[in-house]
Order: sequence, then structure tokens, then C-alpha cells
Amino acid sequence: MASGKLIINAALTGMVPTTADNPRVPVTPDAIAADARDCFAAGASIFHLHAREKDETPSYRAEIYREMVRGVRAACPDVIICVSTSGRTFKTFEQRSECLGVDGDAKPEMASLTLGSLNFPKQASVNEPEMIRRLADCMRERGIVPELEIFDLGMLDYAKHLIERKILREPFYFNLLLGSLGTLSATPFHLAMLVMSLPTGATWAGAGIGRFQFFVNSMAITMGGHVRVGLEDNLYYDTGKERPASNAGLIQRLSRLARAAEREIATPDEARRIIGLPARQAAPEAAVPG
Ligand code: ZN
Repeated sequence: MASGKLIINAALTGMVPTTADNPRVPVTPDAIAADARDCFAAGASIFHLHAREKDETPSYRAEIYREMVRGVRAACPDVIICVSTSGRTFKTFEQRSECLGVDGDAKPEMASLTLGSLNFPKQASVNEPEMIRRLADCMRERGIVPELEIFDLGMLDYAKHLIERKILREPFYFNLLLGSLGTLSATPFHLAMLVMSLPTGATWAGAGIGRFQFFVNSMAITMGGHVRVGLEDNLYYDTGKERPASNAGLIQRLSRLARAAEREIATPDEARRIIGLPARQAAPEAAVPG
């Protein structure tokens, strides 16, 4: 039962892992661009990016996002770029929305939007109703499509509430993240429950945190969904945590699994069509002089 082409969303860096945890975590704009090239070759079409300062701590600064997006687009020109508005470290709207203001040839097509507050194992991610609405408004006004992050069924209900109020508008691309301690655990029942609760016409990707990554990714592939994968969510190939992974290696493994399940890998333009993103137009700075 083939289910159409598979979109692979690569979550390369995140807020938490450092090169001390796994030397393959890319943290500088140059390392992220080089890693993106390998991941694109392995099948990734969306890049979910987080900025870091030189000391590897998380950053919200537009300047770093600009350099990072330009670097990734230079390494693999047509890929879909999704920036992070995470509330895990930064609390103010101004900080969290700074990456949405990056313009010209570094403007992102997508940005993450978490639909509620949650606990990670050692940290809370607080997303108050007013913050979610302001970030959603800002994305809509700037023509940036939200990557809707769902960690629990209630967050999906909240997304539907915002859809009814036209605060969220099509296209709807959902990341369903299971297996983080404090939110919905990674079981087939939970994934099926979320998928069956999605609004009509939505595209979804399955993501598993830590040792649940391959489990959730493989269910998503066979269920006809898409995947989010990468070192942001999981640092190892194995559940015993003995074999440190690389982003490209994780993606290559999923590409092999997808082909075995009779699903080809979507190119970035195919991913845009599947999700319903506007066709990408060259930014003015990228135009070839007449
Ligand atoms: Zn992220």
C-alpha cells in the first residue's frame, strides 16, 4: 500500500544538545550549512533550524538566523526553511518573534508554533494563549506558514479552536511529537488518536523523542504520514544509547525504510505541493542581473 511521497523534516540542532553530547550536532551556521547539504542528499526537504551563540547556548537573534538561512540555501538552494519560535529559553514576544522578521533572501517559509504549554523532563515550555495568538498573527501577516507542534491531544483541540477563529489558516502542517516525558507517550494508539483528530486536509509528520524516534517515524511512514527526524530529538541510532547518530545517517535510514514501504522521497518542490506552500520565488537579492 503505497501512500505517496514522503516529506522528511530535518531537526538538526534544537535548543539542548551540544557537541559535548554528540560531536555531530551542528551548532555554528557553517556547520549547519554543511550538515544540511548531507541531509538534503539523504532526502530531507524541510530544515527546522535553531540558532546558537558561539558558546552553543540557544539564541533568538535574527542576525544568526540570517547567516544560517543564507548558508543552508547556498548549500541546498531549494529546500524549505522553518525557524524556531520556541518558548523553552526565551520568554518575550519580541525575542521569540525576532526570527520571523528576517527578510529578503533569508526569509523563512515556515516557523514553529507550539499549541500549548508543556513540561520537558527538566524544563517547562510556556506558551500562553496570548503568545500563541500573537505569534500566529505575526506569521500570517508575514506570509510564513506555521509548523504546528502538538505534544498532547489538548493542543490539537486548541489548534482547531484557532482554526475556527481564523487565527490559523490553511495550509495546515502538523508535527505530532510523542515520547517526551511530561506529554503524550509514544504508543500506536496515541499516534492514531492524534491522526484521526486532525482537521480535514492537514498534512502531518510523526516525531518521537529520544529512544522513540525510530518507532514513531516508522509508524508514520507506514501510516501514510511524513516524518521529523534529527539530533534535536534523538542523539543515538539505538535504544541502548551506544551508537551516536548523525543527522544524515538518521535520514538515510528512514529513506531506506520508506523505499521498502514503497514510498519515494519528496523533493522540496514536491513537499511544497503536498503541504500547500506557495511555490518558492527567488528573493530580489538572489535574482540574476539582466
Ligand atoms: Zn525545534
